[in-house]
Amino acid sequence: MMRKGWVIFLGLLIVAVGVMYGLNQSSKNRSDRSVTQNNIPKKQIAAQKQLPKGAKVNDWQLKLVNKQHPITTEMTFSKVTVDDKQMDIRIEKPLAAFREAAKQAGYATTLVSAYRSIDYQTKVYQNSITQNEANGMDKSAATKLTQSVIQTPGSSEHHTGLAVDLAGNDAIAKYPGLMAQMDEFKSQQWLIKHAPEFGFVLRYPKDMQSIKQTGIDYESWHFRYVGRTNAKYMTDHHLTLEAYVKQLQTVRK
Ligand SMILES: [Zn+2]
Repeated sequence: MMRKGWVIFLGLLIVAVGVMYGLNQSSKNRSDRSVTQNNIPKKQIAAQKQLPKGAKVNDWQLKLVNKQHPITTEMTFSKVTVDDKQMDIRIEKPLAAFREAAKQAGYATTLVSAYRSIDYQTKVYQNSITQNEANGMDKSAATKLTQSVIQTPGSSEHHTGLAVDLAGNDAIAKYPGLMAQMDEFKSQQWLIKHAPEFGFVLRYPKDMQSIKQTGIDYESWHFRYVGRTNAKYMTDHHLTLEAYVKQLQTVRK
């Protein structure tokens, strides 16, 4: 009688342990699933975790100016003049280091353009339309042609004082009007490759995804200062400034 009771007891115990183990496993599975059921892809979570510490949308280095984010009043910041071009004083040293490193690598560079005020951009813009009209175009065609080559006043990143048009001397000698093909020169390739080490990014890359985001065709000469940490992150994750700012807005409201 006693032995039979023990057998039943042991039997029940085994069943109970089995059931508890099973429950535990299934709850584990549920919690695993809840991670993957979340709509954010794992890759994106990983990328967001690596967002540079302290980087915020409102940081001066990340000022976004484009057709969707135009400015209406002139920006104010301390300016410095380098090679007859004005720029934000905060990019003077990084730009000098960038150009010096290029020179050491055998590539002397020309600073083609830097800060442009809205006022100046307006004059360039108007002059271009006037010139097109003088060449026989009507107002609408003249404006259209101008808009295809000159940024609308208020929408140019050059207003920030943080953007530079920089070219290898040989590249600018062949393409004085600044052309995408300047990147056929080793000098321009060097600048594009090493810019992030000095806090700059090639602002308008040539792949279609980037062009869609920036709304601007490939420019192998236009570099934008964003700071070294941001530049590294943007390069590692292949982000335009538009995409990066969007990511920061999503994660760090
Ligand atoms: Zn430019």
